[in-house]
Amino acid sequence: MPENSTLRIAIIGGGLGGLTLARMLQLHGIHPVIYEREPSASSRPQGGTLDLHVESGQHALQQAGLFSQFLDVARCEAEDFRLLDKNGAVYMDEVTSPDDTAHPEIDRGALRDLLLNSLQPGTIRWGHRLQTIISLGGGQHKLYFENGHTDIADLVVGADGAWSRVRPLVSDAIPTYAGVTMLEICIKDVDHKHPSISRLIGRGSMFALSENKGLLAQRNGEGNILIYPTFRVPEDWLHVCGIPFDQPNLARSGLLKLFAGWNHELTDLIRHCDDNTFLTRPLYTLPIDHSWSTRSGVTLLGDAAHLMTPFAGKGANLAMLDAVELVHAIRQSNDLIRAISSYEQAMYERAAAAAKETADSLAVCIAPDAPHRVIETITRLRQ
Ligand SMILES: Cc1cc2nc3c(=O)[nH]c(=O)nc-3n(C[C@H](O)[C@H](O)[C@H](O)COP(=O)(O)OP(=O)(O)OC[C@H]3O[C@@H](n4cnc5c(N)ncnc54)[C@H](O)[C@@H]3O)c2cc1C
Repeated sequence: MPENSTLRIAIIGGGLGGLTLARMLQLHGIHPVIYEREPSASSRPQGGTLDLHVESGQHALQQAGLFSQFLDVARCEAEDFRLLDKNGAVYMDEVTSPDDTAHPEIDRGALRDLLLNSLQPGTIRWGHRLQTIISLGGGQHKLYFENGHTDIADLVVGADGAWSRVRPLVSDAIPTYAGVTMLEICIKDVDHKHPSISRLIGRGSMFALSENKGLLAQRNGEGNILIYPTFRVPEDWLHVCGIPFDQPNLARSGLLKLFAGWNHELTDLIRHCDDNTFLTRPLYTLPIDHSWSTRSGVTLLGDAAHLMTPFAGKGANLAMLDAVELVHAIRQSNDLIRAISSYEQAMYERAAAAAKETADSLAVCIAPDAPHRVIETITRLRQ
């Protein structure tokens, strides 16, 4: 593909995958447009912290010329990890040594800002939710947005996450429930307000796992802690459990009942959580071996292509790596459909391996006998 190509590329979705793709294309003289459904960069909180892996997330930032800026805001000590059971018994307590800089963590919002600020002005069109997409033949597609805008592209990249509207063009796959539902709650300014919780979580993450449940907590920047109460429950649990998650006091007491008998220090994470909305996150996955026949002028990356649960910390890392690999493939070939095909073949392989690891990790973490088989799995994941 020649530099300064006039190829018209539309990226659907301005998550970490779509943003990395736009940055990479611009570095190589190609000027895509990103269509993002959210109204602005600040319209919703971006969630927790991410461990960027050397061979994927960190590699992508290096390729995108953003690695040193990343290191300026990353936290190396946040790799610390504690594993407990419901009684507070400690099974693992890992402290990152000061010279270990291999696993820096970054708040998702900070990473998103880093990528957004690296893009040329006007790259991202906020408030554009893709409604439908139709093939015009010859690899071109026409895009229809809910706000009435339309566009025609030579290459459409579906970076629009779990419920992708681009995916049906290439695949019939629909995400299925993974058997586990997470909630997300938060404690801000924990060091001052709740020093004992601050000590419990330490500088990184703490997982307390037992009886098909978990209290997963992670330190984010600015003294905030995000907590994920997690349950192996049926898909309709959020609707039938009787807990009103939009009413903080009732939600707190409902959750505390579900953790009855757990160590008091652990349940303090719920008792003292802030009054902000209790976010609900039922977890869905695409099939581990999800693939499709290459189609001219359209492909997928990130969660749109290989949705998996967060239990191996792979999804964002893979989305960013997909973006880098797609741009390499486009640059290495004069034939767009061949480039798409070669990108997809390699992506299927790495995504399937990651999805398998993730499924294995979920199976041992939210399990009746947890945390007994977790250490072995964590050790394997980190190799
Ligand atoms: C609780 C939790 C913790 C996680 N922790 C980790 C972790 O530690 N490490 C890790 O690597 N991964 C983690 N993940 C997974 C990670 O969040 C995802 O894999 C990653 O965000 C995927 O990036 P993406 O760009 O493919 O999709 P997304 O981040 O979902 O971005 C998709 C974008 O598309 C937009 N969009 C959707 N539909 C449309 C439409 N119709 N039109 C226009 N725009 C649209 C959305 O608004 C969004 O901005 C975690 C996930 C969860 C839920």
